Amino acid sequence: MAIKNHILGFPRIGLHRELKFALESYWSKKITLNDLLAVGKKIRYSNWKYQADSGLDYVTVGDFAWYDHVLNISMMINNIPERHQINEQKINLDTLFRVARGSRLVNKNCSASEMTKWFNTNYHYIVPEFTLDQKFCFSWKQIIEETDEALALGYTVKPVLLGPLTYIWLGKVKGINFNKLDLLERIIPIYQEVLAELSKRKIEWIQIDEPILVLDISKEWKQAFIKTYQQIHIVNTAKILLSTYFGDIHHNLDIVNILSIDGLHIDLIAGKYDLSQLHNYFNKKYLLSLGVINGRNIWKSDLLTWFTKLKSFMKFRNVFWISTSCSLLHVPLDLSLEDNLTDFVKSWFSFGMQKCLELSILSRVLNGKLDIEEIYHWIKPINAYKSSNIVNNIVVQNRLLQISSDHMKRKNSFFVRSKVQKLNLNLPILPTTTIGSFPQTSDIRKLRLDYKNKKISQLDYEDSIKEYIKNNIIQQEKLGLDVLVHGEPERNDMVEYFSEYLEGFVFTQYGWVQSYGSRCVKPPIIVGDISRITPITVMWSKFAQKLTKKPIKAMLTGPVTILCWSFPREDISKENIAKQIALALRDEVLDLEHAGINIIQIDEPALREGLPLRKNNWNDYLSWAVKSFQLCSSGVKDKTQIHTHMCYCEFNDIMSAIVDLDVDVITVETSRSDMELLEFFKNFKYPNDIGPGVYDIHSPNIPTINWIEQLLMKAIEYIPIQQLWVNPDCGLKTRTWMETSLALQNMIQATINVRKKILTK
Ligand code: GLN
Ligand code: ZN
Repeated sequence: MAIKNHILGFPRIGLHRELKFALESYWSKKITLNDLLAVGKKIRYSNWKYQADSGLDYVTVGDFAWYDHVLNISMMINNIPERHQINEQKINLDTLFRVARGSRLVNKNCSASEMTKWFNTNYHYIVPEFTLDQKFCFSWKQIIEETDEALALGYTVKPVLLGPLTYIWLGKVKGINFNKLDLLERIIPIYQEVLAELSKRKIEWIQIDEPILVLDISKEWKQAFIKTYQQIHIVNTAKILLSTYFGDIHHNLDIVNILSIDGLHIDLIAGKYDLSQLHNYFNKKYLLSLGVINGRNIWKSDLLTWFTKLKSFMKFRNVFWISTSCSLLHVPLDLSLEDNLTDFVKSWFSFGMQKCLELSILSRVLNGKLDIEEIYHWIKPINAYKSSNIVNNIVVQNRLLQISSDHMKRKNSFFVRSKVQKLNLNLPILPTTTIGSFPQTSDIRKLRLDYKNKKISQLDYEDSIKEYIKNNIIQQEKLGLDVLVHGEPERNDMVEYFSEYLEGFVFTQYGWVQSYGSRCVKPPIIVGDISRITPITVMWSKFAQKLTKKPIKAMLTGPVTILCWSFPREDISKENIAKQIALALRDEVLDLEHAGINIIQIDEPALREGLPLRKNNWNDYLSWAVKSFQLCSSGVKDKTQIHTHMCYCEFNDIMSAIVDLDVDVITVETSRSDMELLEFFKNFKYPNDIGPGVYDIHSPNIPTINWIEQLLMKAIEYIPIQQLWVNPDCGLKTRTWMETSLALQNMIQATINVRKKILTK
C-alpha cells in the first residue's frame, strides 16, 4: 500500500480508568503487584487490538507508562535520584513510584521529583534530575518486554520512545551546575543498546519523539542533534522515524534535513505548513509521516479537505504515512461510551478510538480501497454543526462586536482607586487573606455527589453548603484574618463548576484525560457561543457577607483559564472564545458588586501556561489574554477591589502583561527556597498591591512563626509595606483543617509581630 497509517501513541489509562484505580489500590496495598501488572497488560492488549482491528498498519508499543513516559526513560537509563535508591537493590516498579510520588524510607523523607507541564498541554511529566558525575545503564527493559508481548501476539509493531535530546532538555541539573548536553555521551550508549536490542526483532520502524524540534533551540543543541542521530543510527538496523509535534520545524530545517534518520513525522495541525510546498521542504530520502488528525482536540476531522490536499500531495510523493498530529494521550478514549450527549451533538466529535477510524478511512480512500462516499458520510455532521442553533447565539455575537477599548480599562488609575478602596475597606497594613478554598473533606465531596445524583433535594443541598460556609467564616474570624472568603465548598473543579452555568458548553461522562500519574481530568467542551445562564456565585458570596462585618472576597475563575482547561471549538478564534467567556464573567462581576461585595478575585492560573511554545507568538497571545481579563474585570467602580491569583511566580518574561491586567492585588505562589524568594522580590516590581505566598500549601509541614516573620521582613526590604499582603501560596482545599488552622495561626501571628516591629521602628 502506498499510503500507510499509524498513531503516535494511545491513551494508557484504560477505557474505564482501570489504570488509575489499579494504581491507587496498589499504593494503598489493597491489591498485589501481580494484580497491578495484570491490569496494565490488559490495557496494552486492548489498545493494540483496537489499533489493529481499526485498520492501522502499525501497532504502537512503548506508549504505555505506569506513571509517565518521561519517567519511563529515567528508569530505562537508570537515572534514579539518589534519595530514592535503596542500597544495591535493583530498580523495580516501586522505585518508579517512589520517584513519582515521594516516600518515607527509614526515617528519611524522600521528596518526589518535581512535576511540570508537558509542553503546552495539561499533561504533567516527572522532571528528570541530573547530577555532575552521574552514570547510566540500561536498567529497565519495559520497552523490550512490551515489544516482545506485542510481537508474540502477531502484530506489526512500531516501538516508540522519547528521544535523548528532548529527554535531556526536559531535565534539571541538581547540585553543582554543568552543561546538560555533557550527559549525551553517557546517555547515547544506552539508546544504542536499546535500539540494537529492538533491531534484533522483527521490527522495521522505531519512532523516536523529539518534540523540542518545534521550539527555538540554540546552535549547540542543533549540533547535538546531528551528532546524536549519527551515533544512534550506526548500530541500528531498524529504521528511525523521528517525530516532531506541537508546532512546525521550519526554523530547524537546516539540521532536520541532514539528520541520520529514515523518516520524519510532522504535525500538520499545530504546525503551519503549506501543503502545496511540503514536498520541497524535506529531505527526499525521508519517509514522511503527516500528522493530519488532531491529537489535541475532540472534533471530528474534515476528512474531505484532507483527502483533497493529500491527493495533490501524492503527485509529488507517492509513498508516505498519515497519522495523528501527536499522541492521542491528550484526548478521551471512546465517544461511544457517552450516552448523556444527544446523537446530534455526539456526531460532531471524535475521541481517541474514533480518530483511529478516521485514519483508517482516509488512508483506504487514498489507496483506492474504499469509496469516497465513506468520507462524505463521515463529514456530514460537520456541516450540520455550522448552522446549528446550539452553536450560534446572535445576542452574544452582537455583544462581541460592540466591545470597545472603554470596556477594557478601569475608570481611574490604581493610584486613585487604591485611596478609595483603603477608605472603604479600612484594612490594617499587611492585610491577611487566603486564596479561596478551605479544606474539602470527604463529607463535602459526598454531599456534592449526592446532589448531583439527585439523592438529596436542592434545598437540602444548599442548606448544607451554607453550613460549611458558616463554619468557614467562624474559623476565619477566630483566626483573625482580615479579608475572608466563603471557602468554595460548592466547587468540584474551578473550571467545570463555572462552565456548568454557561451556555455553549457540553460535558462528557467518561471523557477522562490523564493529567499526571493516576490523576485524570474531564475537560468540558466548548461547542457554541458562550453566555451566562444565571448568576453563578452571587448567592454564596452574599450569604457569606451577611455573616460577617469583615470584607468577603468573592472568587471567580478567569476567562483564559476556563478556555485553556476546556476543549475549545475550532470554528472561531481562541481570542473570540475568551472574550465571550469574559463577557459572561463581566456580568457576574457586576452582579457581585451590586450585591455589596467589595473584593472580587479572578483566578488565572492558566494564563502563563497558555503561552505559545515559540517566543515570536507570545505577543499575540498575551494581547488577547490580557484584553479578555480586562474585559471581565474592569467594569467595576473604583471602590471595588479586583484581585487575581496565579500559581507560579516566574513572571520575568511576561511582566508587562501582568502589569497590564491592572488588578488591584495579585497573589502568587513563591518558590520554596530562600534564595529564589529573594530573587523574586528583587525582580518582581509590581506597581500595585501584591501578596507573595508566605508558605507552601502543597506540603503538610506547618510553617513556623519565625520563618514567616523573617520572610516578611525580607519582603519589605523590596516591596513597599503599603503594597504588601500576607497569604498562603494557593487554595487550601487539599489540606486538613488541622494543618490549615495551625498554619494560618502562625501566619497571622507572624504578621502581628511584623506590624509591631514596623510601628516601633
Ligand atoms: N481559588 C482557588 C482555590 O483557592 C484557586 C485555585 C488555584 O489557584 N489553582 O482553590
Ligand atoms: Zn494557586
